[in-house]
Amino acid sequence: MTIDQEIQKAAEILAGAKNAAASCGAGVSAESGIATFRDPGGVWERVNPAEVGTADGLMATLQRSPEKLLPFFRELLDTFERAEPNPAHVALRDLEHMGILKTVVTQNIDNLHLEAGNTDVVEVHGNSFRFRCLSCSWSQDFSRKELIREVKEKIDSAEGFTLSEIIEMMPKCEHCQSVTRPDVVMFGEAVQDIPRAFDAARKCDVMLAVGTSGVVYPAAYLPFQAKEAGAWVIVVNPNENAFQRVSDAYIPLKAGEAMPKLVESVKSIIAG
Ligand code: NAD
Ligand code: ZN
Repeated sequence: MTIDQEIQKAAEILAGAKNAAASCGAGVSAESGIATFRDPGGVWERVNPAEVGTADGLMATLQRSPEKLLPFFRELLDTFERAEPNPAHVALRDLEHMGILKTVVTQNIDNLHLEAGNTDVVEVHGNSFRFRCLSCSWSQDFSRKELIREVKEKIDSAEGFTLSEIIEMMPKCEHCQSVTRPDVVMFGEAVQDIPRAFDAARKCDVMLAVGTSGVVYPAAYLPFQAKEAGAWVIVVNPNENAFQRVSDAYIPLKAGEAMPKLVESVKSIIAG
């Protein structure tokens, strides 16, 4: 089948759906300027996952040679500050407004699905703009751009970039004044909200797997779980991925190109 035929098939499947779910990976935000981890040019080409990807590794690196991470942090802050929802996020929002898509399960920590306007978003790897107290259960959401601006100001005005200065830059817990950390899931840590994610996968009539490689578990089970429960599976990814073999329609395009085309096709099918 040609790509246009795959889009048409996917649109016909979606036009009849009432309870679709999406399982989204880093690829959805690639066109918002946020690099994926594993792709060429991705984050893992520039930093060592063992040094920044685990909580222990990150703490050890920050203790030993924090200045090594300063350019990486600055770049990360700039990237997250500039990022805006792209046409793929907007298309997923449109599908929710059309009464087709119910839940977005995302591995992304960038808050962009919520900013685009999806209302039922399950963030299995957390959210970098939510902070969690290390002593009590307090957690608080911060506005993305405001938080980044504040952190950047703190970095610029700090004497140096040492572990204790970095901890000082984190928001303090409102209840016990303890240290907080971004509520994101690092390697080796427990994923969040997973029952809700699997519930969506089991109950959906269509599962859209968008911009996800299928190598990070347990999120990678979701499209397989949906397929097993009888849902249609639509895959959007310009590169080879684990979900192709269970897909009923496979659109090998970038999410920002594929998703708006898909929504337009669904609209024209519904309009008759
Ligand atoms: P991943 O395993 O989901 O892989 C990314 C996938 O996106 C790949 O399959 C790639 O082919 C695809 N892709 C690349 N560009 C695309 C595009 N324009 N449109 C559609 N698909 C595209 O994720 P990863 O990069 O290995 O990251 C691992 C984990 O790290 C993520 O699950 C996430 O928790 C975190 N992460 C988050 C962000 C973010 O919040 N935006 C970015 C990078 C990594
Ligand atoms: Zn606290």
